[in-house]
Amino acid sequence: MSDSVATVDPANLIASSGAEETVSGCHAGADTMKDAAAKAGKSEVLEQYAKDYPTGPHDQPQSMCPAFGSLRVGLRMRRTATVLCGSACCVYGLTFTSHFYGARRTVGYVPFDSETLVTGKLFEDLREATYQLADPDKYDAIVLINLCVPTASGVPLELIPKEINGVRVVGIDVPGFGVPTHAEAKDILAGAMLSYARSEVERGPVARPTSDASGRPTVALVGEIFPVDAIMIGRMLEPLGLSAGPIVPTREWRELYSALASPIAAMLHPFYTATAREFSSAGRALVGSAPVGHDGTAAWLANIADKAGVSAEVLAKTSNALLPAIRGALQAAPIDARITLSGYEGSELLVARLLIEAGADLRYVGTACPRTPWSDDDRNWLESRGVHVNYRASLEDDIAAVEEFQPDLAVGTTPVVQHAKEQGIPGLYFTNLISARPLMGPAGPGSLAQVINTAVGNKERFTRMETFFAGVGTGATSGIWPASSGRAA
Ligand code: SF4
Repeated sequence: MSDSVATVDPANLIASSGAEETVSGCHAGADTMKDAAAKAGKSEVLEQYAKDYPTGPHDQPQSMCPAFGSLRVGLRMRRTATVLCGSACCVYGLTFTSHFYGARRTVGYVPFDSETLVTGKLFEDLREATYQLADPDKYDAIVLINLCVPTASGVPLELIPKEINGVRVVGIDVPGFGVPTHAEAKDILAGAMLSYARSEVERGPVARPTSDASGRPTVALVGEIFPVDAIMIGRMLEPLGLSAGPIVPTREWRELYSALASPIAAMLHPFYTATAREFSSAGRALVGSAPVGHDGTAAWLANIADKAGVSAEVLAKTSNALLPAIRGALQAAPIDARITLSGYEGSELLVARLLIEAGADLRYVGTACPRTPWSDDDRNWLESRGVHVNYRASLEDDIAAVEEFQPDLAVGTTPVVQHAKEQGIPGLYFTNLISARPLMGPAGPGSLAQVINTAVGNKERFTRMETFFAGVGTGATSGIWPASSGRAA
């Protein structure tokens, strides 16, 4: 146990107003928070985030609190305790959202106030909570997440021991002013855990990886894909002499070893920059894009075969057996509609490819995530078909695309869908209804077409509703009216 008692320097976060002092949060402004964090010794972390998660053309797309991504990854891991350190209002929102999305584990919380922040007692509270939680019978790991104010105040998670009673401790800073999206926050924790596991492997023997029973080399699958997609990918890899490895972010600690032992990491979701760095440091080959649709699957299999040293003959045999089935699935589930697509999950370009191969007239795809090498194949394929690909898209960009292209269906985030519906255009939420369904291999086309065509078919219903409610809530039918002679004026 470290004897050093850290003190934080929250001077820049304490707003003095007469006798009262308050801790500034979101409303302090990103620049104030960044400045405070840098002064508090967090420059290195923030500089790494700035490199890993480049912003621009917009500073930060409008999406949920980024820390949700890390929290979700922690809560999905077995035998892992996840503890938040941040303002109560942030923790309330994050806890609510995580349970809304089906978390079945407790969210730990170490609260603070101005006094514990100023005196450094918050750090002592965090350390004490970590020691209390560190029961090896219950946990393999404890994840500590600094939210905005503790990060800006420099609460030094790195001073908490990396291991207590045999329980690993992984501390990360996930401030909204340094991490653009919740997608990238998933990468921060996945990367931190892979880094920890890699250092364990380098130090000596670790628990035996949960290896594939077939003994074939595995391909680690990076990205929170639908479980059926992992099975589908496994079937596609089998004739190449390979197997599907663990999905990263993993569901248990031992899977991190299996992932690192995989000779190839498939970067199915392209924003996992820190994760990619860990695989590269372990000497693993990386492959971008994903097996979606006919062309995407053909190119992906060829790239995997190349990295795995599979012969051209075996690749051709595999492709010839698989690709006609995908072509058939696309023809059996056509989509005849003009669509705009946007989201913040990072899989938007893959969905766009599938929509186009199914026959959709897609003009625009916006993603809150940044451009990385792992989506280059998808971007090139889409742009060669005249699609406008917009990385770090803002809400305004996405809405402008709906205005310009007047689609039969707008797939997007909640405010984009709301905007479309107000105009009588059917809309589908990307996160709940598109990203959480099978997309890969022969299963993808049918699954996507079903939900898209049902939504497009609602156009007439939307038109009727728009006509029925025309004018309601605007002009003379809105607002509060002073009563006169018992009637609204
Ligand atoms: S952690 Fe930061 S970004 Fe998230 S809700 Fe709190 S202040 Fe906002």
